[in-house]
Amino acid sequence: MNRLNLLQFYREFLPVGPQTPTISLGEGFTPLIRSRHLGRQLGLENLYFKFEGTNPTGSFKDRGMVVAVAKALEEGARGVVCASTGNTSASAAAYAACAGLPAVVVVPAGGIAPGKLLQAVAYGAQVFAINGTFDRALEAAVELSARANLRLVNSLNPHRLAGQKTAAFEIVDELGDSPDYLFLPVGNAGNISAYWLGFKEYRAAGRTTKLPRLAGFQAAGAAPIVLGRPVPKPETVASAIRIGHPANWDSAVRARDESGGVIEAVTDDEILAARRLLAKLEGLFVEPASAAGVAGLVKFRSLVQDPRAVVVCVLTGTGLKDPAPGFDVESRVYHVEDLGQILETLGLEVSPRSSG
Ligand SMILES: *Cc1c(COP(=O)(O)O)cnc(C)c1O
Repeated sequence: MNRLNLLQFYREFLPVGPQTPTISLGEGFTPLIRSRHLGRQLGLENLYFKFEGTNPTGSFKDRGMVVAVAKALEEGARGVVCASTGNTSASAAAYAACAGLPAVVVVPAGGIAPGKLLQAVAYGAQVFAINGTFDRALEAAVELSARANLRLVNSLNPHRLAGQKTAAFEIVDELGDSPDYLFLPVGNAGNISAYWLGFKEYRAAGRTTKLPRLAGFQAAGAAPIVLGRPVPKPETVASAIRIGHPANWDSAVRARDESGGVIEAVTDDEILAARRLLAKLEGLFVEPASAAGVAGLVKFRSLVQDPRAVVVCVLTGTGLKDPAPGFDVESRVYHVEDLGQILETLGLEVSPRSSG
């Protein structure tokens, strides 16, 4: 089957030209899944999930990284560097490998999910764990990029946001217009800024008649935009949004205000409850941060007045890299001696032993 290439498919909206190498690991074109259960529970007839966990390294970061690394290659950079709460490093390392460039990754020591760290190592990046927060790791990465001719591929790099806009394009292409509301997690605030750019560019190009209201959600222990001041020691189970001083703070606030939307906080308990709901009610297993948008929809349900409104929740990444939080597996597994105990526990009517 002929898979679409993201760089080529949306090239008129991307900073790519004939000289840009069209690298690809199969990013983008992620499913927009119509809710079968949660929407009904919430009284919403048109609830959708944009599931970014199907991207090659398991998060939406791949959309931006394919553009940033292609441009680094085009411009002759010696390699790429990033700071990361996890998914950016996995993505940078994978696309650098694909492009044949070295990758340098700086992470906050002890602050990233083991599965994500493992990815960066597996894809061959040089990984440095620095004491302190993500913001400190980012300072180091910025310094390295300036002093060692390594291309910075954090969301301060505008090519990252350019690539991430494509998720907004896909939603419009699939629905035929913009949704009425877009719910999503907010960490470094690149993604909310990128979606807003995408919807606005599509409207300017006449591909959509309206713009959605944006509803962004930070974790309560890492909610600088909600509080209106940086958080020196951000804390949350949702490591991908454990950020105290977002790089794209101003553009996120602009996006919120221009769209008539909100940026609010949800607690870790609310995030993990939403994570469980998504898995159990919809069959969608996401990482803790990815559930923040849905936690926000549950908590601030009254934001959406019309039950027929089209609501899209962005599920930013797969659950497999950080599987444990929110699930007590041991207490949910029954240890049994024999088939009889299984039947008894299930409490089902049983027919006589089959002979075949
Ligand atoms: C990066 C990331 C976020 C936060 O996105 P920002 O652009 O930093 O706001 C949310 N969820 C996942 C899974 C991520 O990897």
